[in-house]
Amino acid sequence: MKKRVTKYLVALMKTSEPVRIQFTKGRVLKRESHFIEDPLGEETKFSPVKGLVHKYTNRVLFKVSYRCAAHCQFCTRFRQIGSPEGDLSDLDVRRCLAYIKKHKEISDVILSGGDPLVTLPKTEYIFDNLLKIDSVKVIRIGTRLPIVLPARILSPQMTSFLRKVRLADKNRAIYILVHVNHSDELTPQALRAFRFLQRFVRNVGTQTVFLRGVNDSYDALENLFQSLYQKGIRPYYIYRCDPVFGVGRFIMPFRKEKKIMAELHRKRAGLALPAFVVDAPNGSGKIPVDLNFWENSRTLIDFNGKLIKI
Ligand SMILES: *Cc1c(COP(=O)(O)O)cnc(C)c1O
Ligand code: SF4
Repeated sequence: MKKRVTKYLVALMKTSEPVRIQFTKGRVLKRESHFIEDPLGEETKFSPVKGLVHKYTNRVLFKVSYRCAAHCQFCTRFRQIGSPEGDLSDLDVRRCLAYIKKHKEISDVILSGGDPLVTLPKTEYIFDNLLKIDSVKVIRIGTRLPIVLPARILSPQMTSFLRKVRLADKNRAIYILVHVNHSDELTPQALRAFRFLQRFVRNVGTQTVFLRGVNDSYDALENLFQSLYQKGIRPYYIYRCDPVFGVGRFIMPFRKEKKIMAELHRKRAGLALPAFVVDAPNGSGKIPVDLNFWENSRTLIDFNGKLIKI
């Protein structure tokens, strides 16, 4: 993956170490030699047509491209991001739409990538056509644009797309999920972009990745999730960083991640807590992490460490 940042990020990286680390190239660790490039099986096992990952019966991931405004150096799609290999031709897009239309069991489509809001015309075309498929009840848009290029969210082209999204959100549910990892990313510009999105859709949420040197403490995540929650933004998932070749230096000790999440459960509202999941390396999906609140199937360990039978 090449280095790529926006002007906006260059400025932010000067004042914020957690932001700087995420976009700076680093060395590959020895123990990464056994990591593979596609641990989630996205390109092989689960891709019925180019552009789609169909792993769960009722929902599908639609990879609009591998283009992003900035390159996060811990990305699960480390090898692909920035390359043209994920660009979809008009025929590819039609094939994806036909697959979704044919498979009536798919009710939930996740527009992803890359960043679907970076290739806006293509995403808009896909979005318009998904609205014509009655079996699609939920559309999610996963993006990092409010964090890496917030001004783009307020652009006339985006505004015109968001007006369509607002209309669509009346008959079905549209979710916008923003990837954010640290409260330093919530600058006045980024928060303005979030508020702007909230004018158009009811559900704006976030996704986060545990990252060494970025958000590897209780305080960092507490700060992030409280800030989001207090702005009406719902943290959805926090992931363990996938063991993809090239990102090893970002992976945290699993025990530490569990300890931080358990402490957040003890101290903060459930609505301010994302679900902690591991995307299983054999491609079987996002598995919730056990936070050790149970001694056995009938005995829980309460927040003071006391055993209680249910
Ligand atoms: C994450 C993901 C989804 C969505 O999972 P949810 O738990 O519904 O958010 C769907 N398909 C693929 C391939 C995914 O990786
Ligand atoms: S925005 Fe998302 S897809 Fe793009 S490089 Fe960052 S983590 Fe990867």
